[in-house]
Amino acid sequence: MRRKLVAGNWKMHGLKGDLPEIAAIAAAARANPGVDVALCPPFTLIEPAIAVAGGMPIGAQDVHDADKGAHTGCISAPMLVDLGATLTIVGHSERRADQHETSHDAWAKAAAARRHGLRVILCCGETEAERDAGRAERIVQSQIEKSLPDGAAPEWLTLAYEPRWAIGTGRTPTLDEIASIHAIARAKLRMMVGDAARGIRILYGGSVTGANAGAILAVDDVDGALVGGASLTAEKFVPIIEAAA
Ligand code: 13P
Repeated sequence: MRRKLVAGNWKMHGLKGDLPEIAAIAAAARANPGVDVALCPPFTLIEPAIAVAGGMPIGAQDVHDADKGAHTGCISAPMLVDLGATLTIVGHSERRADQHETSHDAWAKAAAARRHGLRVILCCGETEAERDAGRAERIVQSQIEKSLPDGAAPEWLTLAYEPRWAIGTGRTPTLDEIASIHAIARAKLRMMVGDAARGIRILYGGSVTGANAGAILAVDDVDGALVGGASLTAEKFVPIIEAAA
């Protein structure tokens, strides 16, 4: 049985003054031991977040695929481990759009994270134009095929389905559409890693709120949520954690 995971992605939000929110989210995580909770603040807050998180996993939103080198402004997996981070997101659609990252980049980043013992949340998801053209399923299958790191296993790999057009828009796919993509993603995992696919969690992300989390988390093959805007405050994030519990 897969435990639900609710992960917050703070994106480029958060200053030291927001640390009390992280402490409050961590308190809610402790109060709901039936669900796994993790938070990915910006790099700048990883270390102070760990200090107030009371053991709640804190991760990064991206990682470089090299361990070190001449890569101005980049952060490596050993640096994240050095800070105490235990996971990282890779392949987020905002990095694909803003930094022109590809599924191959996500694959290399996931592999680097894994080499250093970080858990990975690997993102996939179609654009609105791709969905309108009836290509959502094929796009997600292709992204998984190109980005799934070798030896993917439930202990360290989580997949997140985040349709780009649902991110930050207040729009979500129907529950049937979510179920359909998650089933296709599960089938693709099974083809690639066999039985391990049964244990790999597949999160849904894109405009998840306290109001819709219960229904989305009840969909077959939805094993949790990757939450952006609604993870920024305990007031908005805790109801999502409770919906998963
Ligand atoms: P929102 O929850 O703000 O739509 O963002 C989702 C997301 O991109 C999480 O990684």
